Amino acid sequence: MRTITPGELRSWAKRTAITTAAIVVVASVAVVWLWHDRASLEDINWQPYPAIEPSLDAVTVNWLGVTTLLFDDGETQILIDGFFSRPSLADIVFGRPVESDAATINFVLDKYRMRRLAAIIPAHSHFDHAMDIGAIGNRSSASILGSATSAQIARGAGVPEDQIIVATNGSEYSFGQFTVTLIGSGHAPIGWGGAVPYSGSINEPLSTPAPISAWREGISYSIVIAHPYGTTIVQASAGFLQGALGGVNADVVMLGVGLLGGLGRNYAEQYWQALVSTTGAKHVFPIHFDDFTQPFGEILLYPRALDDFTETAAWFEEFGAIWDSDTRLHLPEFGKTVVLYPQASPEA
Ligand SMILES: [Zn+2]
Repeated sequence: MRTITPGELRSWAKRTAITTAAIVVVASVAVVWLWHDRASLEDINWQPYPAIEPSLDAVTVNWLGVTTLLFDDGETQILIDGFFSRPSLADIVFGRPVESDAATINFVLDKYRMRRLAAIIPAHSHFDHAMDIGAIGNRSSASILGSATSAQIARGAGVPEDQIIVATNGSEYSFGQFTVTLIGSGHAPIGWGGAVPYSGSINEPLSTPAPISAWREGISYSIVIAHPYGTTIVQASAGFLQGALGGVNADVVMLGVGLLGGLGRNYAEQYWQALVSTTGAKHVFPIHFDDFTQPFGEILLYPRALDDFTETAAWFEEFGAIWDSDTRLHLPEFGKTVVLYPQASPEA
């Protein structure tokens, strides 16, 4: 048998190293390319929400990215979710400990004039919804209303106990003229084998910094925000519970679509029916289509490799035409105040 000479071994090692380096370079280029290949919101041609003359007590909503929404009737403000600190992609991928970013939160509360916050209501307790609820609670007198898991996030941030309300499923909570009901729902089954990522609860005060995996789901809710002028439902995650919204009517649905594309058209159609057809809503705003690893205020669709919102948007147009032909789709605009409900003019 011929022995391999040291020279042959060196040249084999060299060739292997060159091949490996080439594969790494090609794979990296592919990942970078896939990460930057994103559809554009400009490919969606929906009409803006009908312009309604704002009165002093009009109910408005302002979308602040992902599923964070500020409702306001001129007297009372309600914040759904609270996600202003934006952990980076590297923080998420490498499980680095993260915490609320005080500078961003101070800036946002000031810029969007959140001085009358009565309630902060996380739709569930994953970090991209509930990360900043404690820090916001500490800068206001607002109640934090949510699951027992959300309560532990608030406690971990040092929010006083009398500002924390653990919601009872289906009970009504009044804040000024708003009546809010949290109805237990489902989270989009976007994990391996249809599981929910980071499910489960947080059973002691959550101290931060912590990796994003520490923010467990808790309970995912449909949030019904009723007001004498109209009703909006916020569904932050693209999950549903068959029959849970029976008997609930709404004018507007804020419909979470994060990674809905990957769950398929059939699933998306059932989701649409459970949230839109069931409630009779005439206006639908998809939310949670923007890449939450971007800095606060930057709206960019997810990479197509993860989710193509333009495809989901086309499905919604089809579902609307089939099931709810007088329902209209609208894109929310970051940081723009929208008057939600027309008001009957006062009696002459
Ligand atoms: Zn979630």
